[in-house]
Amino acid sequence: MAANLVELSVEQREVQRLCCEFAEREIRPVSLAVDAADTDMPWDVWHKAAALGLTSLMLPAQLGGGGMEDAFTQALVQEELCFGCAGIGNLITSNGFFAKPVLVLGNEEQARRWVEPLASERPPLGALASTEPGVGSDAAAITTTAARVDGGYLLSGQKSWVSNAGPADFYVVFATVAPGTRSKGITAFVLEKGDPGFGIGPPIKKMGQRAIVNADLFLEDCFVPEDRRLGDEGEGFRGLMRTFDHSRITLGAAATGLARAALEYALEYAKTREQFGKPIGEHQAVGFRLADMAVRVDASRLLVWRAARRADAGKDVSLEAAMAKLHASEAAMWCTWAAVQTLGGWGYSREYPVEKWMRDAKLEEIEEGTSDIQRLIISRLLLA
Ligand SMILES: Cc1cc2nc3c(=O)[nH]c(=O)nc-3n(C[C@H](O)[C@H](O)[C@H](O)COP(=O)(O)OP(=O)(O)OC[C@H]3O[C@@H](n4cnc5c(N)ncnc54)[C@H](O)[C@@H]3O)c2cc1C
Repeated sequence: MAANLVELSVEQREVQRLCCEFAEREIRPVSLAVDAADTDMPWDVWHKAAALGLTSLMLPAQLGGGGMEDAFTQALVQEELCFGCAGIGNLITSNGFFAKPVLVLGNEEQARRWVEPLASERPPLGALASTEPGVGSDAAAITTTAARVDGGYLLSGQKSWVSNAGPADFYVVFATVAPGTRSKGITAFVLEKGDPGFGIGPPIKKMGQRAIVNADLFLEDCFVPEDRRLGDEGEGFRGLMRTFDHSRITLGAAATGLARAALEYALEYAKTREQFGKPIGEHQAVGFRLADMAVRVDASRLLVWRAARRADAGKDVSLEAAMAKLHASEAAMWCTWAAVQTLGGWGYSREYPVEKWMRDAKLEEIEEGTSDIQRLIISRLLLA
């Protein structure tokens, strides 16, 4: 379990322990097989997590969720689950990524319609679609259009890389009602699987985090009734940025769990593997590498917790969330590389988990804003 660098409440310690045990008992034993199976959704683990309430912990209690809406508790949960496996851990909490814009932008009826079912015993999956083939880092450049027609909108365009696309029943899709006006026209809609004109591409073959299915969405004059629009026209970009400020903290926590997994594994190996007549950890180069890993893990956690505490105090967290995400994801990449290095040739083997963790870590530096984009956000805010 994570080293608790500040005092936690009884409830927080309890949820942390529950997630750590789930990671060790249910996630770790299947993690390498899920990775090898590639793009097969691990429904079994998903249903077990749902039965324990882990897939809906972060949803409001009045909608049947666990009521742990604070970013801090969610960070504790994410670190433990992703300590087990980043792909499976991120899958388990992925409905939070769909629910956030519904809760931020939508009305009560919409929350009941799409968020409440996520807290049921056999919850459906949700997805969030912003990225397009030609639009990634510059999210305000969205080209998918929403043209007003009688009773609703016709959506046309293509979305890329959507997590849970295929297995998901509900999709928040960001489109523009005023092409060429950048963020001003961006509006959020909920699409449901099976809507006419709504197609889903084949799963994309990925480097890592294969427990989550990613695919493109194809929208061809897809009719969306007015009551599926979240908030007013033009409010979508604000909802997307609020979602990212929150999810970047969670993503930082996921990366911390991954880095910690690498540290603990390398540490154990370095104590038992002997070369030149002594455990390799006693060779200074190896020991110092372990020291650097430990520093990065704790620094990541502290940055994540700082951002989470600020978010929970209702303060703006654009700067702190970007710092946490940037540091933790780069630390995860470095620590998983360091674990592979510490295991030597065995680190390169699929019999050991560290090469998978290195592949998993790479994603943390890319999704929800690459490291370059986090640096852009941080530098702009520092200079402002
Ligand atoms: C596994 C996975 C899951 C994903 N899940 C989702 C999802 O559920 N929903 C969704 O909408 N999207 C999702 N994405 C998309 C993801 O958010 C984008 O891939 C990411 O934002 C980067 O966009 P891009 O791939 O188009 O890269 P680009 O924006 O084309 O960037 C390419 C390179 O240029 C750099 N770059 C771009 N602009 C600048 C700049 N101004 N300054 C410096 N460098 C710059 C980038 O850092 C990067 O190195 C997912 C992606 C992956 C790989």
